[in-house]
Amino acid sequence: MKTVYTFGGGATHDDARARDKTVTGGKGANLAEMAGIGLPVPPGFTITAEECVRYLRDGGDFSPELREAVTEALVHVERTAGKTFGEASDPLLVSVRSGARVSMPGMMDTVLNLGLNDETVAGLAATSGDERFAWDSYRRFIQMYSDVVLGLDHGLFEEALEIVKEDNGYFNDTELTAENLQALVAQYKQIVADELGRDFPQDVHEQLWGAIRAVFDSWDSDRAKVYRRLNDIPADWGTAVNVQAMVFGNMGETSATGVAFTRDPATGEKAYYGEWLVNAQGEDVVAGIRTPQYLTRAARERAGASAPSMEEAMPEAYAELAAVFDLLEKHYKDMQDIEFTVERGKLWMLQTRTGKRTAKAALKMAVDMADEGLIDETTAILRVDPMALDQLLHPTLDPDAPRDVLGKGLPASPGAASGKIVLDADTAESWSGRGDKVVLVRVETSPEDIHGMHAAQGILTARGGMTSHAAVVARGMGRPCVSGASGVSIDIKARTLKIGAREFAEGDVITLDGATGEIMAGEVPTIQPELAGDFGTLMEWADKYRRMKVRTNAETPADCRMARRFGAEGIGLARTEHMFFDGARIGAVRQMILADDEAGRRKALERLLPEQRSDFVEIFTTMAGLPCTIRLLDPPLHEFLPHSDEEFEEVADAAGIGVDHLKRRAAELHEFNPMLGHRGCRLGITYPEIYEMQARAIFEAACEVTLRQAQGARGGDEESGSARPEPVEGLGAVVPEVMIPLVGTRKELALLKQVVDETARTVFEEKGVTLDYLVGTMIELPRAALMAGAIAEEAMFFSFGTNDLTQTTLGVSRDDSANFLAVYVDKGIYARDPFVSLDIEGVGQLVEIAAERGRATRPELKLGICGEHGGDPASIAFCEKVGLDYVSASPYRVPIARLAAAQAALRG
Ligand code: ADP
Ligand code: MG
Ligand code: MG
Repeated sequence: MKTVYTFGGGATHDDARARDKTVTGGKGANLAEMAGIGLPVPPGFTITAEECVRYLRDGGDFSPELREAVTEALVHVERTAGKTFGEASDPLLVSVRSGARVSMPGMMDTVLNLGLNDETVAGLAATSGDERFAWDSYRRFIQMYSDVVLGLDHGLFEEALEIVKEDNGYFNDTELTAENLQALVAQYKQIVADELGRDFPQDVHEQLWGAIRAVFDSWDSDRAKVYRRLNDIPADWGTAVNVQAMVFGNMGETSATGVAFTRDPATGEKAYYGEWLVNAQGEDVVAGIRTPQYLTRAARERAGASAPSMEEAMPEAYAELAAVFDLLEKHYKDMQDIEFTVERGKLWMLQTRTGKRTAKAALKMAVDMADEGLIDETTAILRVDPMALDQLLHPTLDPDAPRDVLGKGLPASPGAASGKIVLDADTAESWSGRGDKVVLVRVETSPEDIHGMHAAQGILTARGGMTSHAAVVARGMGRPCVSGASGVSIDIKARTLKIGAREFAEGDVITLDGATGEIMAGEVPTIQPELAGDFGTLMEWADKYRRMKVRTNAETPADCRMARRFGAEGIGLARTEHMFFDGARIGAVRQMILADDEAGRRKALERLLPEQRSDFVEIFTTMAGLPCTIRLLDPPLHEFLPHSDEEFEEVADAAGIGVDHLKRRAAELHEFNPMLGHRGCRLGITYPEIYEMQARAIFEAACEVTLRQAQGARGGDEESGSARPEPVEGLGAVVPEVMIPLVGTRKELALLKQVVDETARTVFEEKGVTLDYLVGTMIELPRAALMAGAIAEEAMFFSFGTNDLTQTTLGVSRDDSANFLAVYVDKGIYARDPFVSLDIEGVGQLVEIAAERGRATRPELKLGICGEHGGDPASIAFCEKVGLDYVSASPYRVPIARLAAAQAALRG
């Protein structure tokens, strides 16, 4: 396998590996591609990313093949450029650039002008006819190389430069003369010698190999590792190295350098967009040393700027550049992000890549390009990253509103939230119960805070990263979250909070921007998301190609309505326990849990029945005949227990028993490992009356809503007493899907199904109505997956509860994984956080087995997924592959799931 590919000049560009990003990296592959279609690219070569991986594996040794291939490739560059590397009279200079498969901050910065030394600098001066330019190039090179390759502090060089300027009374770098620069080079070399105890390398080959080594090593730098983890980039990709003949944008007034996009990356508008600078090199445009000029006349005029645009100042080079833009867009069929240099009037292309864009621009470009005929509808659908839509799916801060920014943390869950500061979950719940909007601020959150997180508009934590409990749970709930805001300190005793230098009390209002991590004082107005315009168009297109249905995980009417607005086709998971926490009900729930016997429990359950029923009435009404899967009580009972003495007294009063007795009972419920304890269907097995009450609430509600619809349809006629009411036109019949959680055996499901069926029969008799309904189960234990064939004898549907299935298959508790999971992802043990993206090869196997065995027993078995993974595009692609009928995601993820499901179907 070749280790080095040449491009430009006489290089043949027909080797597909040279244009394969996985081999030559993004930058290298596109340089080869551009050279191949005849664009002016300075000649060069690319060392493959495979070599980087090999080098790192072999402990930092270059292979003999690589040494030989580089030597050969250098000859190609020398021949094409007509200059020789290291030759004194007319030296070839090169840039050394890193280039991974995807562009990655954290990788080595580019070194320009490599090949300069005390001899070649004179040659450069002679051939360019510009002494100053030559010495300036040399001093820039020493500074860059020392910083990037030799690891010296670039401040040392800045300081020396400042002193020379001060001594001479200069203000700008441009005032430095050739003599000044020559003296500066001597000083720079001295700095290197002092710092390293050896001279700056004069041997150009040593310079080159040093730079190559630095690029390879940068793949394992801390910065790169952090970036990889945050962006799910596997550690085994490696980076390629590009070595390319230098062209100079700093050879006077007919030279220039610039960056450009073929369309506006912020809005998506079809207009060239870019910046350039006359007589400048490399990063000058983005470095902010000089103010760059606009590329086009239109942009300059719109901005009211006076410095001429490239279109005006260099019309010929600009015309050539514009032609290149069009060619590149047609070639890549996508918006390109381009770097170019003009050397004495001649245009050179230094980079092209598919341009990053905002979600808004991505939608506009996809729809526009399809309309222009540049791409087809399915390409447009495939073009938009479903996850990017997240940006558009939360209420966002009004961009025109003023912001009083207090500090910053990690943008853990997008969206904006304003509310009163509350410092614990119970306060969050009680304040929100009385109608306040609250923002929960914690050092970090734990599972015990869930009810508070649910009650809060947003969550702010002082500690924890992007995959902390707060971040994961908040994203799942669609709550905006800023995590790891180190400037936040909480005084829980005083009930106060410091953000940066400012102090706040519980009850003061703050605003969070979960998309940027900003924390602001007071309330900043927001705007609601909508699926209008290009977004709506793309969603319509996506729905045409989608096979799987998309449902939502929701139980409150507000969430249900939101999900429907976003296109949800039903509820995949309504968690009844969320309703248990609500304000007044928690008292009855506690009474039920702490009751000594069935009679005591039944008494409390009777209080809960009307509450639950009205919840379900609301859900069925809001969902208007769309399928609704309702899960019976799942969490361990102790989660609902009272905490404070006050709460214990309240419950004791209501139940008419002593506080001590209650506390003893509460202690009995304590569990060492609640995740594997008395929860899920085990509650239904031990206390069937709980599930019986819930089933009754569901069926009574279903009857009520159905009868109301039927009456509505007949214009309010009296009940006909018919056994099966006709559904109203336009509204489907209410068909409840009752879901039993945490089933591991057929027998469990059989027993509980009996409870549900009997309850249904009783309710239908009472109401004089018969309705269709389904009873099914979650598949969230490995045993359930393996025994799916038997379980399907009882179950009419399976819903994969992949949160618990992941926990139980991996033997990893989601809530306790923060301490090691990041390291696991870092070391590549897991490619991604398995709670965010399904572990397809492990957990996925169980899903596949269960789907297969379940359907073998019952071919019409309905299959869906309702874990956090139902909103994750990679996991959705897997669901398509195993033939699930639907995915269910949190309301704000519904559009993401619709698009991801369409993409999965298209990719086949
Ligand atoms: P990045 O990945 O940070 O964009 P690049 O490798 O593209 O880094 O290079 C940094 C800057 O140096 C860019 O402005 C690029 O155009 C310029 N540059 C790179 N190689 C050359 C070269 N051979 N001749 C002139 N300029 C170059
Ligand atoms: Mg850079
Ligand atoms: Mg670049």
